[in-house]
Amino acid sequence: MNHSLPGLFPEELETLVASLGEPAYRGRQVFEWIHRHGVLTPQDMTNLPRGLRDRLIASNSEEVRRLVSVDGLTSKLLLRLHDGQEIEAVQMNTETGRKTICVSTQAGCAIGCVFCVTGQFGFARNLEAGEVVEQVLRFATVERPVTNVVFMGMGEPLANYDEALRAIRLLTHPLGLHLGARRITLSTSGLVPQMRQLAAEGFQIGLAVSLHAPNDDLRSRLMPINKRWPIAEVIAAADHYAERTGRRVSYEYTLMAGVNDSSELASELVELLHGRLCHVNLIPLNPTQDPSLHASSADRALTFERRLREGGVPATIRVNRGRDILAACGQLRLAEKKRGRMAV
Ligand code: SF4
Repeated sequence: MNHSLPGLFPEELETLVASLGEPAYRGRQVFEWIHRHGVLTPQDMTNLPRGLRDRLIASNSEEVRRLVSVDGLTSKLLLRLHDGQEIEAVQMNTETGRKTICVSTQAGCAIGCVFCVTGQFGFARNLEAGEVVEQVLRFATVERPVTNVVFMGMGEPLANYDEALRAIRLLTHPLGLHLGARRITLSTSGLVPQMRQLAAEGFQIGLAVSLHAPNDDLRSRLMPINKRWPIAEVIAAADHYAERTGRRVSYEYTLMAGVNDSSELASELVELLHGRLCHVNLIPLNPTQDPSLHASSADRALTFERRLREGGVPATIRVNRGRDILAACGQLRLAEKKRGRMAV
């Protein structure tokens, strides 16, 4: 894959600038401008000679929309890439100073989960590492540095394994943002071989598994990928990851009224996860294109959570932030499409 400047490591940038007739150390300067200072415009890299600046193109993408939630804590960015593909990234701040960026790893997604807007539009292409890292850099500010990155936006990160891993190596690079690996979480729909491959990498990144159902019948209806890698195999791979890294795996469970939120299913989930090094995130469903799917009521969600906790499975109901800015995966892109601006 060809990499844009934000997708290159210092040594690769050194080779690149040397090929342009410049001393190699300039490559390292370019890396620091991009990854430490978030500068994506070569003309702003003020310690580089003008001739070099003129010949570098750090980013071909452009911001289409940037929305900020009413409470000011969540913002969402719609980016148009060089080939016209549009992707989303979300920033979530907390009052305690945490600043988490949720990035996309693919334009579209081939997994086709029924409750996900992105999944309904199919797959366009993999993002290269620079396009992933750029989503983070566009939210980086001196006053409020990025503290966490989650690979939970559009796409299945493990289906774009090499570029997702390259992006993680760039984000953790000591000359760049230098994020701790433990501050990065990657979410997967359960691609078992890649989960095992990730466990062998020796990274300490967090792993989140989209589960959404405690049995294969229901999960296959919600996530067709379950027919390829059923629950038992996914859980075994997640256990293996927890064992290898010592890190607790998160299971994502989107609560849908009358679909997967009954007390019986909560008990089934307890049976499945009891005794494992894990945590369950219960997520209220965001609006989808399917009129038959609705979020569970607050009461039902609380009952479900209580049942898990009583059964010894740690669980939390995640607060849905940024609804006013269509912060859930794929929604802003869909809204723009409805405005007639783009073809998906
Ligand atoms: S939930 Fe994730 S894996 Fe499933 S279709 Fe949406 S983007 Fe793809």
